[in-house]
Amino acid sequence: MDVQTTAPNRPLVNGPLPGPESRRLLAEQDRHESNTRTYPRRIPIAIKQAQGAFVEDVDGNVFIDFLMGAGALGLGHNHPAVVAAVRQQADVLSHGLDFPTPIKDEFTKAHLAMLPAVLRDRMRMQFCGPTGADAVEAAIKLCKFATGRTEVVAFQGSYHGCTHAGLALSGDTTAKERFGALMPGVHFAPFPYCYRCPLGLRPTSCDTNCAHYLENVLTDPQSGIAKPAAVIIELVQGEGGAIAAPVDFVRRLRAVTRSLDIPLILDEIQSGCGRTGTWFSFETYGIEPDVILSSKAIGAGLPLSVVFFDKRLDVWPSGSHIGTFRGSQLAFAAGVAALRVVQSDGVLDNVVRQGRFLLDGLASLKGELAIVGDVRGRGLLLGVEIVDPATNRQSGAIARHVQQRLLERGLLIEVVGRDDAVIKLLPPLTLDRATATVALEILTHCLRAVDAEWAGEADAQADEELVV
Ligand code: PMP
Repeated sequence: MDVQTTAPNRPLVNGPLPGPESRRLLAEQDRHESNTRTYPRRIPIAIKQAQGAFVEDVDGNVFIDFLMGAGALGLGHNHPAVVAAVRQQADVLSHGLDFPTPIKDEFTKAHLAMLPAVLRDRMRMQFCGPTGADAVEAAIKLCKFATGRTEVVAFQGSYHGCTHAGLALSGDTTAKERFGALMPGVHFAPFPYCYRCPLGLRPTSCDTNCAHYLENVLTDPQSGIAKPAAVIIELVQGEGGAIAAPVDFVRRLRAVTRSLDIPLILDEIQSGCGRTGTWFSFETYGIEPDVILSSKAIGAGLPLSVVFFDKRLDVWPSGSHIGTFRGSQLAFAAGVAALRVVQSDGVLDNVVRQGRFLLDGLASLKGELAIVGDVRGRGLLLGVEIVDPATNRQSGAIARHVQQRLLERGLLIEVVGRDDAVIKLLPPLTLDRATATVALEILTHCLRAVDAEWAGEADAQADEELVV
């Protein structure tokens, strides 16, 4: 049976967006908040409340939310079990520094039990500052300390956060402009983004040449890169555009890093906690990582960040990576409650089922619509790459147009990837079939409408050229 959500159960947009009250609050925000804010620029609404898969703005418009707090809300908004657990914990203890507490102990045991059996006894947990970026910082420092090495290999198209290390390890070159002197020693290898092969080989040949490239970089004494302290990767790139690495590539990556004693860090901050249909995305690849980064949904919407790592790396002294907020007790309570729901309500099966439904529905548009270049993803981390049919290149302009159309019809999505050309879908893991069906109808309608508009414009342009 599909997991149910509670009312409201349909999107409803009453008039032009933003509505009057949203407009007022957006203007207040503009007056007081930093330019760096992002979401309300493309999705100009002020939020009043939310429940399950739906959010309501301050003007009474209701939207299906496929942003889900950038993936932090695995079970959707305000899941009753999570709300009850947080309320109860708030009366007991909210901040416990890094002392042991009963709820932390429960959280720790419950999460270690989610790891594949071979890793359970091998892994230690570190609670860092509550953001994903701080888990990245912690893991890099850990691996540098344990290996005595300084270099790190990351992948093109990756996203690991906005701190000086996180940004240094991320692919987006525009984001790095004007922030020189990021963490030094980072080297980028091609990520197997097979729709647009970084080595220019597909579709004629491949044989996992990204793996071959990496093996060469790590083993060739003339590659120019000293043996690294770590290799860090998202097996399913999220901000990069919902791109899953092929199994053969990942196995070879694991084999070469293991043979050279290079710790492999898996950034599961977005792909973990059930998002791709297994608890962690690496489970389907049949590999054993040295370090796993988890944040976002692990706190069920409350800020929490955890590094799991092989205990042989735990050679650094007390205080090597600390912070004031190292594991909120409220987030532990929320995380335990969410995990119990995942286990008791068949949530991972639901992710696979609804993910397949959405992916199949969208894939059928691929041949039909010239602006749909690729449809991909794992579980409920899905992406539609929008292209300019005239050039077949990624088109952020058309993708943003689709995003606006979706907003007007009541579906909130983010655009990510190169040129922000990928429509990224992050539904709640508890998505029910009825809501998935409505979302698919909206997506289909808006993609068709924008495709027709584009074709009309292209025709008009061709006519103009003829007249000239
Ligand atoms: N790694 C990945 C894979 C992410 O998706 C993100 C956030 N989108 C981060 C790291 C950074 O997490 P945070 O924004 O909490 O710092």
